[in-house]
Amino acid sequence: MKNMTDCLFCKIIAKEIPSSMVYEGSQAVGFKDINPKAKHHILVVPRKHIDSVMAMEEGDQELVGHLIWDAKKIAEDLQLEGYQLRFHVGAKGGQEIFHLHLHLLAD
Ligand code: 5GP
Ligand code: ZN
Repeated sequence: MKNMTDCLFCKIIAKEIPSSMVYEGSQAVGFKDINPKAKHHILVVPRKHIDSVMAMEEGDQELVGHLIWDAKKIAEDLQLEGYQLRFHVGAKGGQEIFHLHLHLLAD
């Protein structure tokens, strides 16, 4: 994405668009998916705009590791006994929003 001011998730992070935030960390936020595919469906989203796993650059590994850590913390808060963590990668991988995010899903 060339213009991040057009990015929906950047706008949600900046609170220009409302969302149900469940987590606000230094590097990432968590908010409820607007169209949940499970009883619990949280999107864990880095504050830094990266289009996709495909667009990760050297140095982004730690940030993506942090997303998994934050998802674990959110899952603990929700007292989940098990859950799925999913990345959709690229349009052909089912990705619709081109701001990297990790889906946390649990029933
Ligand atoms: P993707 O397929 O790109 O990995 O998933 C994008 C997700 O973002 C979808 O599950 C979709 O329901 C969710 N989504 C799309 N627009 C909005 C929105 O405006 N607010 C929230 N909270 N979630 C959204
Ligand atoms: Zn963005």
